[in-house]
Parts: sequence; structure tokens; C-alpha cells
Amino acid sequence: ARIKGVEFVKSSGRAKDCPKDDRPEFAILGRSNVGKSSLINALVHKKEIALTSKKPVLLMPLFTSRLLLLVDLIWFVALIGKTQLINHFLVNKSWYLVDLPGYGFAKAPEAAKMDWCSFTKGYFLNRDTLVAVLLLIDASVPPQKIDLDCANWLGRNNIPITFVFTKCDKMKVAKGKRPDENIRDFQEIIRQNYKIHPPWIMTSSVSGMGRDELLLHMSQLRNY
Ligand code: GDP
Repeated sequence: ARIKGVEFVKSSGRAKDCPKDDRPEFAILGRSNVGKSSLINALVHKKEIALTSKKPVLLMPLFTSRLLLLVDLIWFVALIGKTQLINHFLVNKSWYLVDLPGYGFAKAPEAAKMDWCSFTKGYFLNRDTLVAVLLLIDASVPPQKIDLDCANWLGRNNIPITFVFTKCDKMKVAKGKRPDENIRDFQEIIRQNYKIHPPWIMTSSVSGMGRDELLLHMSQLRNY
């Protein structure tokens, strides 16, 4: 399960503008600040390329259809990170990684926090080629209502989920719990209340934990 090439294909403002293609895709979703950009970077990471440098985005060949260099992808993810668009990246010319808008911006009012639904609902409900949603959950904090609500909504609509726990390298903070304890608490609430049992993977973009496992998991789901 190696990533040989990533090509930015399209940003779509509405579900029906997404690429018309029958190649399988995985959507990446999570609370803002969950570590989504870091995880995408870690997934496509190639050691020989300095991925961390943040060059001015103006230099980027935006919205072109040519094969983007990996480093371009990183800039792009950084640039669009805060915008409300569905972004399709074609991996190895065979499947899509779809970056969805983050939800639950810390400063947004309660109502706006769940607003991701109205925007992405159409995407989830109508995208036939969607294999699974990689729902990113921050393992360094206790279970968050908005993540539980999101998992519940996806589950109720029969959309396959994989829980991808992020920041699993983080050490116990004062009074806080360890990532594995937060994960256990989260799973417990999900099992008891929502009766769904999605597969789950522990990851860290810092240590690289879970990267290969996640890529393998996606390849297994694609071939299923
Ligand atoms: P996004 O808003 O979901 O795209 O989140 P970012 O990828 O920008 O990450 C948000 C913050 O969490 C940044 O300060 C990252 O350095 C930090 N972060 C992301 N992934 C990890 C991780 O695996 N481990 C640790 N310790 N910190 C992380």
C-alpha cells in the first residue's frame, strides 16, 4: 500500500459538482484542529521532500490539472484547510482521497457547529463511489459531543465509517486521560448508544503510528 502519486483534481462547492468518476473514494472528516492536514501530509509523506516548509501560496499552480508535486499538495491542503469546499485528490491514479470541510470551529455558535451537515449531507447521501468516511477523532481529549453526533448521523444513514484516532502520541496531560483511555471512553459511548461497531485505527502524524495500517485498511476496503 504505497502512495506513488497524488494529483489534485477539483474543489467542489456542492456535492453535485464532484468529479463524475467511478473510482472509489474515501472522505476525510473531523473537527477543526483534529489534525486532518497533518494526517494527510503524513499519508503522502515522502522522506526526500521537505514537507514542512510553508512557502507563499501565491507560487502555487492552483487549479491546474497537471500532476501536482507532493509538496504542492501540502501547500494546497494548508491553503484550503479553512474553506468550505469538497476537495478531490486522485491517488495512484486509482482512488480518491476527499478532503471535506472541518466542523466545530471552536468560536462558532452551537447552531453553526453542526452546520457541516447541511453542507456535506448531500455529498454523503449521494456519492455512490464513497467507500468509507475516515472520521478523525482527537485522542488527546475526552469524547466530544459533536464527534459523537457526527458518528451517529453517519451511522444512522448507513454510511461506512472508520474511526481514525489522531494525536495518539500525546502524553497524559494534567488531570487528563491518556489517548488509549479517551479512545476506550469514546468507543464505549458509541457502542452503548448508537449500536455501531466501526473499525478503528490509532494514528500519530508525529511518530507515523498507524500510517501503514491505515493505507492497508483502505486498500482492503477498496478490494472488498
Ligand atoms: P486540522 O485543522 O485538522 O487540519 O489540524 P492540523 O493538522 O493543522 O493540526 C492541528 C494541531 O494539532 C497542530 O498544532 C498540529 O501540530 C497538532 N497535531 C496534529 N497531528 C498531531 C499528532 O499526531 N500528534 C501531536 N502531538 N500533535 C498533532
